[in-house]
Amino acid sequence: MNIEKEKTNDVTHIKNVIAIMSGKGGVGKSSVTSLMATALRNKGYSVGILDGDITGPSIPKVFGINKQRATGTETAVNPVETATGIKVMSINLMVDDEESPVVWRGPVIANTVKQFYTDVNWGMLDYLLIDLPPGTGDVPLTIMQSFDIDGLVVVSSPQDLVKLIVKKSINMAGMLGVPILGLVENMSYLQCPDCNKKIHIFGESKVPQAAAETNLKIISQIPIDPNFVTLCDEGRVELYLKENYTFAEEFENQIEGMVKGIQKSFKFC
Ligand code: ADP
Repeated sequence: MNIEKEKTNDVTHIKNVIAIMSGKGGVGKSSVTSLMATALRNKGYSVGILDGDITGPSIPKVFGINKQRATGTETAVNPVETATGIKVMSINLMVDDEESPVVWRGPVIANTVKQFYTDVNWGMLDYLLIDLPPGTGDVPLTIMQSFDIDGLVVVSSPQDLVKLIVKKSINMAGMLGVPILGLVENMSYLQCPDCNKKIHIFGESKVPQAAAETNLKIISQIPIDPNFVTLCDEGRVELYLKENYTFAEEFENQIEGMVKGIQKSFKFC
């Protein structure tokens, strides 16, 4: 099923769909999705997050909306809004107990993600970010094949940046004809709180090598920061950029530059 045509309907008008993927779990894909959504919201855009990581959903928790439940009618569901007005749809907003595992097979999971797109009242959105399940398995494959994705962001940790696992994700996107906006290196460095020096705790940055080998743009390098984990655990991820002005200014501009690239490369040319 190709759901391109359903991107606009009576209650939903989504201008751009951006999918966020990673070669494997634990590299910070969901965290980067949350930060990107916050950056775009801070820049004044209307933003939604579709939590496509059905078996490991973490978006509601980092925004502190995990105790809320999505409401709706028999035909459509309303997303839950975060403190700053980011609209979120996640399986954890629908199940009775967020700690119960979702024991579903791939096709059921992929269909649920599709319904999160077609049967949710997203309203008017400048950007819908899809947090894809990690890896290159059945579910990300189906989502990438059936959604009209305007751009893909690949998230990696420094250790994996030049490894096969990232290249597999990039190659999969290439095979499916999904345009890649670039790479985000998460947990890239540690900023010394005293002298502000960037310490590359995983060794020299592989960013130049990765950019050369993949021919992709490095969108951003995000530091490893214990305060970020604390805010995520407390459900207050939206405060991170507000509390880190210097990083926030750079990051918000990088993300806005990235989305402007979508319009230039894929929409108006
Ligand atoms: P994924 O979605 O790739 O599985 P998550 O976004 O859930 O990964 O992140 C995994 C863990 O790493 C979480 O506990 C998260 O808070 C932490 N984390 C992610 N990015 C950072 C960062 N830049 N600094 C510190 N901790 C981070």
